[in-house]
Amino acid sequence: MSPDRAVLERAIERGEREGGSVEFKERLQRDVHLSDGRRESLAAQLRHRVLSGDGEATYVVGVTDEGGLAGIPPAQFSESMDVLSLLAEEAGAHIEDVQTWGVDPSNADSAANRSPPGDAGGEGGRGDGTHGGTRGDAVGQDATSGLVGVATIREGGILDVDDSHIVVGTAGHVDHGKSTLVGSLVTGQADDGDGGTRGYLDVQPHEVERGLSADLSYAVYGFDDDGPVRMDNPHRKSDRARIVEESDRLVSFVDTVGHEPWLRTTIRGLVGQKLDYGLLTVAADDGPTKTTREHLGVLLATELPTIVAITKADVVSEDRLREVEREIERMLREADRSPLRIDRHGVDAAVEEIGETVVPIVTTSAVRMEGVDVLDELFERLPKTAGADGEFRMYVDRTYNVTGVGAVASGTIMSGEVEAGDELLIGPMPDGGFREVEARSIEMHYHRVDHAEAGRIVGIALKGIPESEVERGMVLIPRESEPTAVREFEAEVMVLNHPTRIDDGYEPVVHLETVSEAAAFYPEGGTLLPGDKGRATVRFKFRPYLVEEGQRFVFREGQSKGVGTVTDVHPAE
Ligand code: GDP
Ligand code: MG
Repeated sequence: MSPDRAVLERAIERGEREGGSVEFKERLQRDVHLSDGRRESLAAQLRHRVLSGDGEATYVVGVTDEGGLAGIPPAQFSESMDVLSLLAEEAGAHIEDVQTWGVDPSNADSAANRSPPGDAGGEGGRGDGTHGGTRGDAVGQDATSGLVGVATIREGGILDVDDSHIVVGTAGHVDHGKSTLVGSLVTGQADDGDGGTRGYLDVQPHEVERGLSADLSYAVYGFDDDGPVRMDNPHRKSDRARIVEESDRLVSFVDTVGHEPWLRTTIRGLVGQKLDYGLLTVAADDGPTKTTREHLGVLLATELPTIVAITKADVVSEDRLREVEREIERMLREADRSPLRIDRHGVDAAVEEIGETVVPIVTTSAVRMEGVDVLDELFERLPKTAGADGEFRMYVDRTYNVTGVGAVASGTIMSGEVEAGDELLIGPMPDGGFREVEARSIEMHYHRVDHAEAGRIVGIALKGIPESEVERGMVLIPRESEPTAVREFEAEVMVLNHPTRIDDGYEPVVHLETVSEAAAFYPEGGTLLPGDKGRATVRFKFRPYLVEEGQRFVFREGQSKGVGTVTDVHPAE
C-alpha cells in the first residue's frame, strides 16, 4: 500500500502563500537553522503558519521554494524533522503526523517509501506521530534516492498521559447525548436541546480517527486547586494548550463506539488504547436500546470501570425518569453488575465502589446543566486505573522501513518500560518461534528518547530483523521471557449481534490487542445463540500469536459481532 500521493499533490498545489498555512522547506539543518537568530525567526514563522491555518500548518520538506520535488536523503530528512520538532516545540506546537514519499531525482515519480504493512481496513495511512523520521544515524542510503515529506503541525503541546491524566471512553446510542454531555463538561456551557453544545465537538470522522490515533482525545478539560478548568471555545486550539498548562489534573474523552462502523473505533479506542473509565449515555426518553446493551457489553468485557449517565432528564416526566432508572438497573443486573445511583448514595460511595462489580448511575440534563457538577466531582477524584506495572510488552501496530536504519515497529506500550539498547524478543513468527532483537533507538512524537513506559505510543528501531519479517500483531517482550506461541485457545464469549446462531466452524476475524486474524470458533455444545454467554475453542486459521489468559478480544464477521475473554491457552503444535 503506498501512501496517498494526493496528500502531497494537494499540499504542493495549495502552495506557499503569504498568510497561508503551508510552508515549503528543502531541508532544515541543526547547525544552520537552530543557530541564534535563525531559530527565533523560524519558530515565529511556524507560529504564524499554525495560526493562519486555525491551529494546523503543513510543512512540505524536500521541495524547493517553488514546490519542485527535490528529494533529500533519509538522514537529512530525519534531521529536518528533528529541527522541525524543536521549532514546533518553541512555537507551542507539535508534529502530529508525517508522511513521506520516495523520489528519484531523475524521475520524480518513483516508489513510495512508507508502507504500513498489515494495516488493512483503510485508515488512509494516517499515523500516530511516531513512525518514520528516524534520526540521523541513517547510513549508506542509496545516493540516487530522496525523500519528500508532508508534516502536519498542530498547535499545543503533546498530551502526556500520566498519573494525573485520566482517559474516558464515551459510548452510547447515537443521539443519546454523548457529544453534548462531553461538550457541556469541557465548556461548562448549557446545551439548547438542539445540538448547540455538541457543535463544539463534532468534527469530521477522519479527524476523529486521527484524534484517536494521534493523541488520544477529542475533548479535554482539567482541574486545578480551585476546581474545573474549562475551555472557552473548543474550536480554538490554543484553548486546549491553556487547559493542559493550567490544570493539575486532566480528563480527556475518547469516542469509543459512537461512530459506525463502531467496531473499528471500538478496537482502536478500547483495545488499542489505555482507557481508564467508560461513560455510557442513555437518553431518558428512549431508555436503553439494543445499541446501549451492546456498548455496555463491550465496556464491561474490556473490564473498564463504567459510569452510566442518563441524559435529557429535562425532556421527560419524573415518572418516566424513574422508569428509565429501573430499566438501566435491570440492564446492569442482567450483565452481573450492581447499579449504584449517585443521587441516593452520593459521590463518595461512587468513587469508592466503582469497579468490577459496581456501576454508578448519574442523571443529567445538558440543557439545565444538571449532573454536570456530579461528573466533575467524579472525574476530579477518580483514580487512574490503566495498569502499567509488569514486564515490558508492546504489540506491534505498524512497521516501517527506514533506509539505513531498518525496521521500526510502532505501537502502544502495554506494560513495563523499555530502554534504548534493551535486548528483546519479537514474535511469534509464522512458525511459532521468536527472534532476538535489540531496541536500537526509541522515538516518541519524533523525539528520540532514552526510555519510554506503559501508555506511550512509540516507534522502536529494531536491530536484528528485516522489516519484511515484522508484522502487525507480533509482540515485543524482554529477552529473558519464555513465551509460547498460541494457535488455539479457550475463551468465554458473548455474541452481541448475530443474525442466526454460531455453529462449529464459524469463522470471524478476531481482534486482540493489535492482532486481526481469521479464526475458527468451536462453541461448547456446538451452538451459541445471540445474547448468550458461553465457552468456545478458538483457533487462528493461519498462524499463532502471543495470547494470554485474561486477554479480551472482539470478533466480527459480517453483521455479527461479539466479545470474549481468553480463559486458557494451548501452545502451538
Ligand atoms: P450523540 O450522538 O450521542 O453524540 O448525541 P448528541 O450529543 O449529538 O445529542 C443529540 C441531540 O440531543 C442534540 O440535538 C442535543 O442538543 C440533544 N441533547 C443532548 N443532551 C440533551 C439534554 O440533556 N437535554 C435536551 N433537551 N437535549 C439534549
Ligand atoms: Mg456525537
